[in-house]
Amino acid sequence: GVMCAVESPADQTPELISLRPERLNEYIGQKDAVETLQIAIEAALARNEALDHTLFHGPPGLGKTTLAHIIANELGSRLTVTSGPALEKGGDLLGLLTHLEEKDVLFVDEIHRLPKTVEELLYPAMEDFAVDFIFDKGMHARSHRYRLKNFVLVGATTRVGLLSAPLRDRFGIFRNLDFYEEPDLIKIARRSAMLLNVEMDNEGALELARRSRGTPRIVNRLLKRVRDYAQVRSHGRIDKKTVSESLALEGVDEIGLTNQDRRYLETIINFYGGGPVGIEAIAATIQEESDTLVDVVEPFLLKIGFLMRTSSGRKASEAAYKHLGIAYKGQVGL
Ligand code: ADP
Repeated sequence: GVMCAVESPADQTPELISLRPERLNEYIGQKDAVETLQIAIEAALARNEALDHTLFHGPPGLGKTTLAHIIANELGSRLTVTSGPALEKGGDLLGLLTHLEEKDVLFVDEIHRLPKTVEELLYPAMEDFAVDFIFDKGMHARSHRYRLKNFVLVGATTRVGLLSAPLRDRFGIFRNLDFYEEPDLIKIARRSAMLLNVEMDNEGALELARRSRGTPRIVNRLLKRVRDYAQVRSHGRIDKKTVSESLALEGVDEIGLTNQDRRYLETIINFYGGGPVGIEAIAATIQEESDTLVDVVEPFLLKIGFLMRTSSGRKASEAAYKHLGIAYKGQVGL
């Protein structure tokens, strides 16, 4: 079935609303993406036109959905949220498209998972703001072109490589979101702590930033765990000690690796001699979906140089061995 929601504050818990930046000038980091959007939005508003269709790609939790909300806010238009897997049939998409007003934003998360038939319907919708209905079949088939309002499609994907060229080419704005650097993560931690009304010192913010895998969503999630711990164990004040103690309980280590990250690396090292090994073999060994490993686990391990992807499979780096306290014997069989 179709999952669609015209976002209204009632759909969200108050806490989610307060942690998510609403305007571009509250959005921390990703300077290049923000500047691109600032210029494009200002120009579109000045010309009284719809914004070009926009695609964000990058690992989960980096702020793609947040930017879609912000775009709608900055344009002063409504946002409709859906996702690739939720749009099973052409009719699901048509239902959404025909309800869009001029300059409304349609956000399609996981756009790489759109079924092919739905994707093909999207091409004329994006390019000509029209959809073609086909009546009857065979030699009596007639098609009727239905005009849509000039809407803005915002797509998000963790796997830009899986997007077809025709879909990719229909986005005028195309931005990659990368993991956040420490100073930005600290700002996000401070902002969220302020909004949650919890006291946190500089060292606490730094420690939280270091353990958040470069990811705002993880900053916010861990902050809530730390807040609980601080409330119960140290009068509600967050410092370095409360962060490290509470996150040790969560299985999050000094550089932010989780139990799942370590299990993944240990599997490559202990079961497959450090690699190279195929993703499916790793997934089968640790009984995890390979999509989850590729989307959630691997990007950060690649980023910090613990993992290498080669044509023959995944390999753990010397730095990964060192971090896990396993002796590195060099690569066998090369
Ligand atoms: P994605 O769609 O890429 O998976 P989201 O947009 O859902 O990520 O972001 C996850 C959470 O992280 C949001 O709820 C928001 O509170 C926070 N967040 C993301 N980007 C930023 C940012 N640049 N500044 C502050 N908070 C952010």
